Amino acid sequence: MAIDPTADYNPDNIFAKILRGEIPCNKVYEDEHALAFHDINPQADVHILVIPKGEYVSWDDFSAKASAEEIAGFVRAVGHVARENGLVVRGYRLLANIGRNGGQEVPHLHVHLFGGGPLGPMLA
Ligand code: ADP
Repeated sequence: MAIDPTADYNPDNIFAKILRGEIPCNKVYEDEHALAFHDINPQADVHILVIPKGEYVSWDDFSAKASAEEIAGFVRAVGHVARENGLVVRGYRLLANIGRNGGQEVPHLHVHLFGGGPLGPMLA
């Protein structure tokens, strides 16, 4: 069920539970602003999710409310994860599904990072 990106942040969402350590994840990177882990249902050879540590439902509230430091930290973390997982030379894809039309299922902002081989026209 796709989410309402204008709804208040729900701390019971699954990525909030992962951030609090209540649910395990296959972690690939963590710093003060971001956490990255393998998607549980990979759509490509490499499928990593990167999430900000702050409580943001979607790109909408993140871009409007996050501090410049949080935004920079998150963007840098995504680039770092791509480099550290060998995706830069052959290329990769970034995707953020936002709200109902975007098909966003988890109401905590996340960027999908796909790579490891040629990608089809759409994923996730
Ligand atoms: P969609 O499921 O339509 O791609 P999203 O953009 O909200 O919608 O993506 C949510 C992603 O989170 C999915 O790719 C799903 O496989 C992944 N996911 C859900 N639960 C977990 C989990 N516990 N650990 C890792 N990935 C998860």
